[in-house]
Parts: sequence; C-alpha cells; structure tokens
Amino acid sequence: MLVVMRKGATQDQIEHVVRAIEARGYSARPIPGGERTAIGILHNRGPVDPNWVQGLPGVKEAIPVTRPYKLVSREFHPRDTVVAVDDVRIGNGSLVVIAGPCAVESEEQALTIARHVKRAGAHLFRGGAFKPRTSPYAFQGLGEEALKILDRVRRETGLPIVTEALDHTVYDLVEEVADIVQIGARNMQNFSLLRRAGHSSKPVLLKRGMAATLEEWLMAAEYILEGGNPNVILCERGIRTFTDHSRNTLDLSAVPVVRKESHLPIIVDPSHACGRRDQVIPLSRAAVAVGANGIMVEVHHRPEEALSDGAQSLYPDQFRRLCEEIEPLAQLYARAPEPEHGPAEAQAAG
Ligand code: PEP
Ligand code: MN
Repeated sequence: MLVVMRKGATQDQIEHVVRAIEARGYSARPIPGGERTAIGILHNRGPVDPNWVQGLPGVKEAIPVTRPYKLVSREFHPRDTVVAVDDVRIGNGSLVVIAGPCAVESEEQALTIARHVKRAGAHLFRGGAFKPRTSPYAFQGLGEEALKILDRVRRETGLPIVTEALDHTVYDLVEEVADIVQIGARNMQNFSLLRRAGHSSKPVLLKRGMAATLEEWLMAAEYILEGGNPNVILCERGIRTFTDHSRNTLDLSAVPVVRKESHLPIIVDPSHACGRRDQVIPLSRAAVAVGANGIMVEVHHRPEEALSDGAQSLYPDQFRRLCEEIEPLAQLYARAPEPEHGPAEAQAAG
C-alpha cells in the first residue's frame, strides 16, 4: 500500500501517519516526491485495509500495490532512479559505458586496458578480483592483490571501478575499493550477500541470474533497497536456453519490461550473454536501441592470453569503433527522464 499525502502536508502530519502505520505492526517508508510525499507500507502480510489510513490528517489517498516487489516498483516510485558515481550518472537518459577485462591479471594488464578503454570513451572500468568460476581449477582471480591494482587504476586513470563481491566475507574489502560493487549472476539469490549490499553505501550492480524470472530479479533488488541502499543498477547478461550458437541468450525484451516495472536503471552485458567476440558489437547496438541505460563490455589487449573469457573480449580497436558507433545511436535513442507523475497518478493495478 502506498499512502499519498496531500500537497503541502506538514512534517507533523507525515510523522503522525508513519507512527500510525508502525502502531499496526507494519513498517513505513516515506518517499519524498517533487510535489508531495508518499509513504510506503512494508512488512504487511496480506492486504492492508485502506479505510483507517484514509481518514488521517494530511492523507490524500491510499493506493493498493499489487506487485510483490514494492520499493523497486514504479508504483512506489514513479521517477527514474539516477545513480551517481563521481560525475557519471546512470539512469538519466545518457548511455553509460563500462569496460575492462573479465579479470585483473596483473598491474600492467589492468593499466594497459584501462588506458585503452578510457581513450575510447568508457566511463567506468570493470575487472574482477574475485572470480566466480565453474571449475575449481580455473583462475579464481588475484583477490586482494587485484583490489590494490584496481585502486591504482582509478588513481592513474580517474575511471571509477566496478568489481565483484563474490560473497559477504569479502564485501568489506571490495567496497573499500569499488565505486560500484557487482553481484554476479550466480549470486543473484545469495540472500546474505544481498542483505550485506543493502547496508552498503556503495551502489550495487545486480546481474540477472541465468535462470531468473524478472520477478525473481526484481525481488533480489528489493532485498537491497529494503536494507537501506537505494542505489541499485540492474544488469541483463543473458539467460540459459537451448541454443548453442551463443553462450547464453540475451533477453533484450527484459529491458523495456523492467523499465516499465521499475525505476531502477538497467544496463546490458552483451559479453557474458553471447560469449563470442563477433556477437558483442551487434548486441551492444541492440541494447542501446532497446533503451538500456548503459552497456558493460569485456575488453582485453591480448585476449588470446586472457586467463578468463578471452573469447568474448573485444580488442581495444574494436572497442574504440564500438564507442564511436554507439555514440550517435545513444543520442538517437536518448531517453528523457521519466516525467514526474505524482504518486497519486501512479498506476495501481488493483
Ligand atoms: C563477470 O561480469 O565477470 C561475470 C562473471 O559475470 P556473470 O556473473 O554475469 O557471469
Ligand atoms: Mn567474464
């Protein structure tokens, strides 16, 4: 349920409604809007009777929310969330480009690639320190040493860093260095990790699980928002299907659906979706055209020697051409931020 306050409702009235909600054993989450405040009711089991709240001073109306996810839904929060990292904005209608190797392999490797992608126009640098690998015998990442290298990359290039926290035991270390903490596809429903991310002051890049429905994905994001961290970026990275012409199947239709359902920004990772260099550029174009807020692409200066995901990593030259090509596309498909509908005008599905 979303309780919409009247325009000009006083702080006392808002606090009174919050206390009334809490007195019933629910929790209340005030959501300030441009024109009026709304108060979300959380932790209710079953429908909430709107009559008691509608009579409280300052209340305009109470709108039932039917989606199982609340804080991530547009019903609760009609305006697009814009995540800020230094002077980069994710979700404001511009196209954000994140690029770098699958894994940090050495300082020389990370710095070389970071300089290439920066010159080409990337806004953030990606590189795994702790790698989720199918085989225990495969390269697992350089761990803490890689975090030090990433710190150096940021200092040398000015690029903010995206890197993965593989589990909650390394979260403290990762968030010290990362500007955005990635939660990988295999961890999308690692609930202790999601709860830890909810307590973080750093934005979170939440990848879609390879067999997750959109509802499951949005519910995973809900854990992070419920924990108090509003800065979540969703990342579509392909789902498992019967195909064998690509590693996964990039579910581009998720982008417009998620944009409609949720105010959170959504980016696309074509590299892990296809697993093959020759498909990364066409899928990147498509991601821009379908309305993604950004793309995340793997790049390596010597992909044949890469310790992971070399086959899908673009050469720096290819990445540069991709950036040149998508810039006009991004402008063509630039999205104005969602106009602010007051919460009262938000769609209530029942
Ligand atoms: C990655 O981004 O390096 C990665 C392992 O991605 P995913 O979790 O999508 O497989
Ligand atoms: Mn990878």
